[in-house]
Amino acid sequence: PLTLLWFRDDLRVTDHEALTAARDDGDVVAIWIREERDTEGRGPRPLGAATRWWVHESLQVLGAELDKRGIPLLFAAGTATQIIPEVAAELGADTVRWSRRYAPASRALDEAVARELEARGIASEDSPGALLVEPWKVEPSSASAYYKVFTPFWNAARQVSVDLPLPAVKAQSLPQEVADRVDRVRGANTHLLAEVDDLGLLEAGTGPASTRFSLRSGEGAGAAKISLGEGDPRFPWWEDTIARHWTPGCVAAHEAVDHLGERIAGYAEDRDIPGDPEGTSALSPRLRFGEISARKLLAAVDALGDVGAVDREAWIRQLYWREFAWHLTYHVPDLDRRPMRPEFAGFPYEDDPEALAAWQAGRTGIALVDAGMRQLWRTGWMHNRVRMVAASLLTKNLLLPWQLGEQWFWDTLVDADEANNPVSWQWVAGCGADASPFFRVFNPERQRARFDPDGVYVRQWLEGDTGESAREVDAGDSDDGSAGEQVPIVDLGESRQAALAAFDAMKSAQSAD
Ligand code: FAD
Repeated sequence: PLTLLWFRDDLRVTDHEALTAARDDGDVVAIWIREERDTEGRGPRPLGAATRWWVHESLQVLGAELDKRGIPLLFAAGTATQIIPEVAAELGADTVRWSRRYAPASRALDEAVARELEARGIASEDSPGALLVEPWKVEPSSASAYYKVFTPFWNAARQVSVDLPLPAVKAQSLPQEVADRVDRVRGANTHLLAEVDDLGLLEAGTGPASTRFSLRSGEGAGAAKISLGEGDPRFPWWEDTIARHWTPGCVAAHEAVDHLGERIAGYAEDRDIPGDPEGTSALSPRLRFGEISARKLLAAVDALGDVGAVDREAWIRQLYWREFAWHLTYHVPDLDRRPMRPEFAGFPYEDDPEALAAWQAGRTGIALVDAGMRQLWRTGWMHNRVRMVAASLLTKNLLLPWQLGEQWFWDTLVDADEANNPVSWQWVAGCGADASPFFRVFNPERQRARFDPDGVYVRQWLEGDTGESAREVDAGDSDDGSAGEQVPIVDLGESRQAALAAFDAMKSAQSAD
């Protein structure tokens, strides 16, 4: 029998249930699709610029790993409801297999694909793979259909046993007859592309170039005049900057497990120190694309006998924050657009494109936030503590809609994830399920004093990791050519008061309704 294995967010060959089942059945041909949502809006959220770069790299590693195992990998772009049944039929596949995904729009699409396949007499099978505990395996005993608060979720989910990971899929040569069929289909099917590069994942215009920015400071007390535009030579292509920080792909992901102990020793305390390069695991993009399974990581951490239980448990708890985000995403549609607490739909946010651009460019004049935004721009990743502070500044001090920040992170994070990103943004903005109370406005100066007291992190990113200093960049760009500390674009104390007043206004408008 021949199986078509549809890879999505599971770009690995180890601990892969669908792939293991396909191999046990016989011959396997794999496919990855650069998906567009269908006319009914079904399908995953289109990838942002940084994740497009990541997946472009990761697919090449996956292709090589599959090749060693006698599994050809096909590429296509378009809507999966059309492509999967067509390609499966042309190949003469008996079954199409995939790992389940959990966002409502993606589930709807997968169901539509399964129906199309059934209509053509082709079987479909889905398997778990992305999570430790699938969202429906933990249900609260109360009337609510799902957990809205992390701690009870964590207590319940931790009780659900997790199976041990599966080994890497074995090699088996592809019969010539199947290889010929694959070549024929590749030549004839108009959706199929010859190689990764044809997917257009790095295309200019849709990629980093369209989000380059330049900034001129001057004009008034600390006001920033920002123009968004292409072609600013000070910012090299993301492909060049981000690429220096990462080695995408399932091979490097599994090698990282060898160093997990070093990252997890001391984690309970070090995880909050943004200047500590070993403080956290940096596995988030790998989990995002399933280059390694959460289950494999859980087993690896459990086996770290020489690392203290407190550190291990603290790290596992973060892994379950990811589970919780998917639990919410499974149950609540449109999390990236709609606040979970509906009263926040009427929150009196500001409309201030210049403030937004200053935040995006790391030019707010608030050191910890600017350092974080530059780390993000240059590496595609930002430390969790700084993500919280940067998001708080945007949504509370600058009073800008959280959706704008969420979208920027979606475009610039290599770990941008349909669950973690909106859920975390809603949490910081105060409109999420288990949100921090609105009056909890992070004070970036106090956060800096507490978590970066020696200025290691701020210096690293404000002075740049590419040799050019932020000062020079500022000086070259300002109207009068002067360099110097940037005046904050917002007064932290006053803006905090304004945020609390806006929150009160929202509540009174709501009670008047
Ligand atoms: P570690 O500390 O080593 O943790 C291990 C793993 O646990 C992570 O790789 C991640 O998968 C998970 N994890 C850790 N912290 C969290 C958390 N707070 N919420 C959910 N999962 C967590 N994470 C993403 O993976 N994708 C996103 O798009 C994303 N957007 C965020 C936006 C904001 C505003 C904030 C405040 C947080 C966001 N996070 C996101 C969560 C968190 O910042 C990152 O997961 C973490 O910084 C990744 O670094 P790490 O792999 O070294 O984490």
